[in-house]
Amino acid sequence: MSGIAFIGLGNMGGPMAANLVKAGHQVAGFDLAEGSLKAAAETGVQPATSLAEAVRDKDCIITMLPKGEHVISVWGELAKQISSDLLLIDCSTIDVESAKRAHALAADAGCHSLDAPVSGGTVGAANATLTFMVGGTDAAFAEGQPILQAMGKKIVHCGTEGAGQAAKICNNMILGISMIGVSEAFVLAEKLGLSHRAFFDVASTSSGQCWSLTNYCPVPGPVPASPANNGYRPGFSASLMLKDLKLAQEAAKHSGATTPVGALAASLYAEFESDGHGAEDFSAIIKLLRDSLDH
Ligand code: NAD
Repeated sequence: MSGIAFIGLGNMGGPMAANLVKAGHQVAGFDLAEGSLKAAAETGVQPATSLAEAVRDKDCIITMLPKGEHVISVWGELAKQISSDLLLIDCSTIDVESAKRAHALAADAGCHSLDAPVSGGTVGAANATLTFMVGGTDAAFAEGQPILQAMGKKIVHCGTEGAGQAAKICNNMILGISMIGVSEAFVLAEKLGLSHRAFFDVASTSSGQCWSLTNYCPVPGPVPASPANNGYRPGFSASLMLKDLKLAQEAAKHSGATTPVGALAASLYAEFESDGHGAEDFSAIIKLLRDSLDH
């Protein structure tokens, strides 16, 4: 490998690029935001002043951008500039249709490509413990796997083009729904006079057990590291959860799947965001449920 270009050095991309440097890769980085570029330079990433400069003479290009439209725009630019046989990897969380379009842009340029969204948040990005859900051909996966291993602890090849994004939004639909379920149960338990501790001790060792309860418990106390103990500071923001639930609804519409509970979860998070809580951790949704009960 003669080097990697990393495009999008924000909350996730910055530490991911830093871990590639730590693993011994030559990494050039580009971001529209000067601050992100500067912070990345402090971790050993070579800052580039343009996309073209970042990707010059590289074997692999990684993008970590906010939305599908950004990925299509950047990959569209890349397709005009790069030579064939490069590996393009998109780690952003985007809609399945845009992911497939991005793969097509790479194929037209004679390049291999992977969609490789992540789970694990900013802590996983910093500690190189992300889970990667990967879509693409076997050949592209074999090429990309050693690179992804420098940034994550579990790399799952989910299938062909778009399969990584499909796995990501299905997983996060479970997460959004289960957080609402756990929150609703705590609110009901409160009304029935149960202490948070008593209910947690039962549910966490019974059939109600799930990640939302045991890792991100929406009430303070039972799980010391959960955002509820830290004023609901994210963590994983309610706005990002809403973004993923909307992507799941879009995919359900395209594919003809019936996801009524996912749709309800999306509408509850949309209400929560429009009430001004988008920047809080997604477990703060318990406040919306308490408010609804009180009215
Ligand atoms: P972020 O907003 O912190 O970073 C995105 C970066 O992309 C910004 O620095 C922005 O300046 C840059 N950018 C936008 N357009 C660009 C362009 N055309 N060229 C170069 N740079 C450009 O977002 P983030 O939290 O790092 O998230 C990135 C992706 O990862 C999103 O798709 C998000 O859904 C996903 N994700 C985030 C988390 C999390 O906890 N933050 C967890 C899992 C997945």
